Amino acid sequence: MEYKISQRAASLSPSLTLAIDAKAKAMKAAGEDVVGFGAGEPDFDTPQHIKDAAAAALAAGFTKYTPSSGIPELREAIAAKFQRENGLVYKPSQIIVSCGGKHSCFNVILATCEAGDEVIIPAPYWLSYPEMVKLAGARPVILETTDKTEFKVTPDALLNAITSKTRLLVLNSPGNPTGSVYSPEEIKALGDVCVEKNVLIMSDEIYEHLLYDNAKHRSVASFSPAHQAHTVIVHGFAKAWSMTGWRLGFLAAPEPIARAIDAIQSHSTSNPTSFAQKGGVAALTGPRDHLKTWLAEFDKRRRFAHQKLNSIPGISCVNARGAFYLFPNISKTGLKSSDFCAKLLETQKVAAVPGIAFGADDYIRLSYATGMSNIEKGLDRIARFCASLAK
Ligand SMILES: *Cc1c(COP(=O)(O)O)cnc(C)c1O
Repeated sequence: MEYKISQRAASLSPSLTLAIDAKAKAMKAAGEDVVGFGAGEPDFDTPQHIKDAAAAALAAGFTKYTPSSGIPELREAIAAKFQRENGLVYKPSQIIVSCGGKHSCFNVILATCEAGDEVIIPAPYWLSYPEMVKLAGARPVILETTDKTEFKVTPDALLNAITSKTRLLVLNSPGNPTGSVYSPEEIKALGDVCVEKNVLIMSDEIYEHLLYDNAKHRSVASFSPAHQAHTVIVHGFAKAWSMTGWRLGFLAAPEPIARAIDAIQSHSTSNPTSFAQKGGVAALTGPRDHLKTWLAEFDKRRRFAHQKLNSIPGISCVNARGAFYLFPNISKTGLKSSDFCAKLLETQKVAAVPGIAFGADDYIRLSYATGMSNIEKGLDRIARFCASLAK
């Protein structure tokens, strides 16, 4: 039998990160002492009160279909979160609960973009955005940035990239893979351009609560009713509540977009998992004490790793202000990112993600969502690796 693979699926790039990850796991399984900087999730457990709420829901038989866009209790808790934390008023009907922030992103793109449309994606980008745009039949337009601007797009660069075909701008602050955070002024300026040019913004704010050095998060939707009308906010429970495996995310959108996404969900995934949604309610309405502890720990690691990286000849690293990644520049080593990461894994048993996966071949991504002793050991090995290259 010859299988026909759709153009849609065949056009996707296979995940480079998975290749490295598979190799690192195989080496670990073979008993080798591998240090992993690849983690895309917090190394902390989901807070107990959230687990308890989901377990209680299960025990009480809350195991059936729910409304496709989420249970009213959770949609109301999400609307209350936007009002309380972001000063944004949404009706619960504008809130859609999805099977993860990634699912929310996918649905926004699917509901708003099609063949002939362009989607502007600043690079370095989260690697799924361009693939999602391709799946929707639209064209990703990559807007490059470098560490010289802390990986931030300027309003002029954005304006130059907008054409009559531009449907959507993807914003992600605090950002993966760079940890970069736009200031309120910077984010407003980008929002102003989109309002003026009538471009919708998909603002991925999943790292909203993971901030350092007094960095401030301000949602682009929050500057005026016009900004809100031009924005879909994507969010989720994965990062600030360490719930990656729960598959629970959400979005807030103008009413017509919310309705379209509800229709898509009703015919694809139906509802997000019933008892996971009860955990989501507990996350939004319960205590946030865990976050303080996590942030203190992340911050300690971030400071240490940033300093250590900049002491290594051949490497330079701007500091991150959010999320849990650093994105050092390796161009002075003379290697491109895939080569650098492959050799690093082979010779030093350190797994890092090549920047080319995020559209930036002169960098690598290091996640500090791993213990301090791992970070110390891994960075020592990276220093040794760079020294060996210089010989
Ligand atoms: C982790 C992440 C998400 C969402 O992850 P889910 O597990 O699907 O909730 C969305 N955007 C970015 C940039 C992320 O890093």
